[in-house]
Amino acid sequence: FSYLPLHHHHSQSHSPPCLLDAATAASLSRADLRRLVSALAHGLRRTHRIRAGAVVLLILPNSIAFPVASLAVLAAGGVATTMNPSSSRAEIADRLRDTCPSLVLASRDNAAKLPPSAAPVVLVPETFPSADDEFAPFRALLDPDTARATDEFPCAEVGQDAAAAVLYSSGTSGRSKGVVLTHRNLIAMVELFVRFEASQYATPACDNVYLAALPMFHVYGLSLFAVGLLSLGSTVVVMSRFDVGEAVRAIRRYKVTHLPLVPPIMAALLRANSAGALSLDSLVQVSSGAAPLSGRLIQDFLQAFPHVDFIQGYGMTESTAVGTRGFNTSKHKKYASVGLLAPNTHAKIIDLETGFCLPPGSCGDLWLHGPAIMKGYLNAEDTCTRNDGWLQTGDLAYFDSDGYLYIVGRLKDTIKYKGFQIAPADLEAVLVQHPGIVDVAVTSAEDEEAGEIPVAFVVRKPGSTLTCEQLMEYVAKQVSPYKKVRKVIFVEAIPKSPAGKVLRRLLKEFLHLDGA
Ligand code: ATP
Ligand code: MG
Repeated sequence: FSYLPLHHHHSQSHSPPCLLDAATAASLSRADLRRLVSALAHGLRRTHRIRAGAVVLLILPNSIAFPVASLAVLAAGGVATTMNPSSSRAEIADRLRDTCPSLVLASRDNAAKLPPSAAPVVLVPETFPSADDEFAPFRALLDPDTARATDEFPCAEVGQDAAAAVLYSSGTSGRSKGVVLTHRNLIAMVELFVRFEASQYATPACDNVYLAALPMFHVYGLSLFAVGLLSLGSTVVVMSRFDVGEAVRAIRRYKVTHLPLVPPIMAALLRANSAGALSLDSLVQVSSGAAPLSGRLIQDFLQAFPHVDFIQGYGMTESTAVGTRGFNTSKHKKYASVGLLAPNTHAKIIDLETGFCLPPGSCGDLWLHGPAIMKGYLNAEDTCTRNDGWLQTGDLAYFDSDGYLYIVGRLKDTIKYKGFQIAPADLEAVLVQHPGIVDVAVTSAEDEEAGEIPVAFVVRKPGSTLTCEQLMEYVAKQVSPYKKVRKVIFVEAIPKSPAGKVLRRLLKEFLHLDGA
């Protein structure tokens, strides 16, 4: 079972905790984790007949039980699929139809949202372990007697090309897609994304303390906190949900060294810092991914926390979060770049019109190839892996002559104004520089004359009296005439997904309702 290797460059005697609950300080050692995962895997096989290919749906908030449950499903030979624990009843019913699970592992409130005819359910406690009676079935699954020898994993007999997980894309550009990832994909992710990262520092990975503030149901959080880092022996401090105050307290209390974030959380941390300087001395590295990050935010961040290495990376569900290896922005000053390609990963930039490869400096569709690229989408033909295994990311991107990658936007989001192409990110980058603006998102509205026009949704600084006209003029001064913002709408907040992405689909729906 490659996800929890037994041999470790770390002596057992002063072994740090593997998983730690930020709120209660309850913790699991590496030995505890192996024993629990093994016992639960045997329990899943014996009591619920989970075998190779059986899907187990996890509807759980972040807790130290989350990695235990997901690793146990893998160890049993099953396929783990995850979903947002704040999903509605309808979304859960929909997901059950899509994934046909043999078993559901749910928190108490999520179990209550399941339709009556759903698959069998086991309630998983959020604090771990719980003596509460309703969790008896879960505790029964953990009974060490069910494991023949305590740290002997079941012999699941699944090959590396068998499905291991179905993770859903964020649904930024449409309906979320179920992405089938194999064991080979997950193992490649650990090798490329996690082990390589760890080798960048002189200190051993088992001395690193990570704060898990990102949701574990998404590929970013799952790959790091439930699979990758545990195989390295790092400590993962788990927060049930993100909260700035709680995060700061946890960083101080547990001497957190590594903090993986998404842009909105970075912005929240900066706001908290400007309200009174935060001392976060233990932090060595802060990393961001999953969504575009403005250069201004990075620079403000580096100014506020000069002792921290700031790393930006790029990845997607379809690539098991692998894409670029994060790089130290503070050293290279390439603020807009997401870094160099991960080892063993190949890329090309394809011209949208001709289909030919483009040289450095030219922007086109990014295609990726490598061992972490998915098998395909669930319940669909292997559409994305035709082209000899190349994945068409749908991201508009270019490489500079040093090999650094820049993500310009998404193909689908490109605004077509009278035959000209406008990337919303270009306009967002201009707007966000305005001192009166807190947040912004640009999308297209249909227009009879031009086809599409750029519309900016803007959150003003509290007390700002900025007008739409002033903003449109501000942009017009800085961009080519065809790129001008044609409409500004002031809003309280920009809708974002749990992974920090702007939900442009909701902005479009708003425009539709607004009759724009
Ligand atoms: P869907 O595919 O359902 O529309 P999604 O693409 O947002 O949603 P994910 O797989 O979670 O779902 O996200 C991957 C995408 O996130 C990438 O294709 C890219 O557009 C964006 N992304 C990831 N990292 C970065 C980054 N560092 N900078 C800019 N964009 C990023
Ligand atoms: Mg996508």
